[in-house]
Amino acid sequence: MFADTDRLHIAIQKNGRLADYSRDLLRDAGMRVVKGVNDLAARVENFPLDLLFVRDDDIPTFVADGVCDFGIVGGNVLEEFALGTPDAKFEIVSRLGFGRCTLKIAGKDGVEYASPASLSGKRIATSYPLIVNRFLADAGVESSIVTMNGAVELAPRLGIADFICDIVSTGATLDANGLVAFDTVYESEAVLVRAQRPVDAAKAAAAEQMLGRLEGVLATKEAKYIMLNAGSENLPAITALLPGAGAPTVLPLHGRPGQFAVHAVCQESVFWETLQKLKAAGASAILVVPIEKMMM
Ligand code: ATP
Ligand code: MG
Repeated sequence: MFADTDRLHIAIQKNGRLADYSRDLLRDAGMRVVKGVNDLAARVENFPLDLLFVRDDDIPTFVADGVCDFGIVGGNVLEEFALGTPDAKFEIVSRLGFGRCTLKIAGKDGVEYASPASLSGKRIATSYPLIVNRFLADAGVESSIVTMNGAVELAPRLGIADFICDIVSTGATLDANGLVAFDTVYESEAVLVRAQRPVDAAKAAAAEQMLGRLEGVLATKEAKYIMLNAGSENLPAITALLPGAGAPTVLPLHGRPGQFAVHAVCQESVFWETLQKLKAAGASAILVVPIEKMMM
C-alpha cells in the first residue's frame, strides 16, 4: 500500500527506563517489529514505519532535524532541549503516561530551605541547567548552576554544590545519599513528539493512521466496558454515576418488564467505590471488563 520512500521513522530509547514501554506501546498499536540489520534500526513489517534506537538525549535533535518524524522521549529531556533550541520545529502529540518522574531541588538533610530564595548565591548541581535556570528566573533568584551529566546526587557530599536539582521518582536515591527534596521544578512523563515539516500525502496518511492507533491504545489503558442490570426508575441515577461514559446502551431484559441492561464504555478508571455506589443506586449483576482495542 505504501511505497518505500513513504516510510515513517520514529526514534525511541535504545536502553533505559523508556525503552521497554516505548516498544510495548508500538506493539500494542499493532506494529510487528522485525530485527534490523544492526541494533540501531528495525523495520515494522506490517506498517510503513522504521524504528531508530538511540540515546534519549539525542531523540529531540533527531525529530527537530527531521531525521525522524516522531520520537518518544521524557518530557524533561525535551523541555531542556526546547529551552536551548527555541527555533526547533516540533510539537508534542500526546503524553504517554509512563516514565513519570519529577525534577526536584534537594539538599543535605538539615540544610535550610524555606523557598527558592534560599537558593540565592548557592551552587546547584544538575543535568538540566536550562530548566533550573528558568525556575530560578521565575523566582527572581540568582544562583550558580553546576552542570553534571551524571551522579548529580554525589555533588553535595563532594562539596561541588550546595543543592542539586535531579530526577526523583521514589526518593530512594536521595535517601541513600542523605539528601532531602525541598521543591518541585518540573513534573515529567514520556511524550510522543512529532517533527513539524511538510510531508507528502502518503506519508501524512500513514502518520494519521499510526496516531489513530496510538490514541486508541492510550485510551484503552484506563477504559473499561461496564455492564449492569437496573430497573427503569433507577436509570438516570445510574448513568450519572458511570465515570467518563458517553450515552450508554440500554436494552430491555427478556421476560422482566421494566428491567434493563445498561452497557457503557467508561473512559476513566472504575473503582470499587463506584461499583458500590452503582449497587446502592439499584444496579445489579455489575460486570467490568477490560477493553482490548478501541477506535473512536
Ligand atoms: P540514555 O542511555 O538513553 O541516555 P539515560 O540514562 O539518560 O539513558 P534513563 O535513566 O533511562 O536515561 O531515563 C530515561 C528517562 O526516563 C528520563 O529522562 C526520565 O524522563 C524518565 N524517568 C522516569 N523515572 C525516572 C527515574 N526514577 N530516574 C531517572 N529517569 C526517570
Ligand atoms: Mg540520557
